Amino acid sequence: MIDAHIHLDQYATHEQATLLASGAPFITVSTNYLSCLANLQLAQHPNVHSALGYHPEQPVASAQEEAAIFALIRANRDRIVAIGEVGLPYYEQVDRDAHIALLERFIALAKELDKPIVLHAVYEDAQVACNLLEKHQLTRAHFHWFKGDATTITRMIENGYMVSITPDICYEPEIRSLVARYPLSQLMVETDGPWPFEQEFSGQLTAPTMMARSIEEIARLKQLPTEQVATQLYNNTTTFYRL
Ligand SMILES: [Zn+2]
Repeated sequence: MIDAHIHLDQYATHEQATLLASGAPFITVSTNYLSCLANLQLAQHPNVHSALGYHPEQPVASAQEEAAIFALIRANRDRIVAIGEVGLPYYEQVDRDAHIALLERFIALAKELDKPIVLHAVYEDAQVACNLLEKHQLTRAHFHWFKGDATTITRMIENGYMVSITPDICYEPEIRSLVARYPLSQLMVETDGPWPFEQEFSGQLTAPTMMARSIEEIARLKQLPTEQVATQLYNNTTTFYRL
């Protein structure tokens, strides 16, 4: 299993040690400049691959912070696997126009550096993200924890975009219907850890072991053997991120 989207820098040091000891590979995404620095440090571990970006669910980056992040991405272009986490604010509607403009600059940079982009863009925001991706002809796009309408889902499938599924597939009907529709060849699994999950995962530290349950549920929905689905998801992730 590969965790296609985790915030490893947001775990306590002793928790990071436990997760790294599990031997599972991770793609750790960044939320701001300091988070980018922390993830670059973590990526010295052979199983950790870093993405640098600026999370959209916060006030938009200052000009200085944006310049620092872009410079860091350029300087580390051969050490990072992607640009992310970037996107548009849905849950905290702040600086929307500025976030759209910043997202477009990240997409242009990803195109220029030939890197995939990790997107936080749900519901109506996904349409805006699709418009920008199409405008810049960036096809290596990963919509993490995606939720959206049927028209956007069809557009994303046709454009070859990837989506990743969190453990909430075990209890969210909206995610289960997305998985039923989305081609297995364009799916990955993630935890978005340390984000906490509910129901059977309630009270547990979010860890990649939870993805075993996600894979079981994906296999059930696709009516395929779990082992086959696990292998496909692993290969999807290593191919997309060129690991
Ligand atoms: Zn995230």
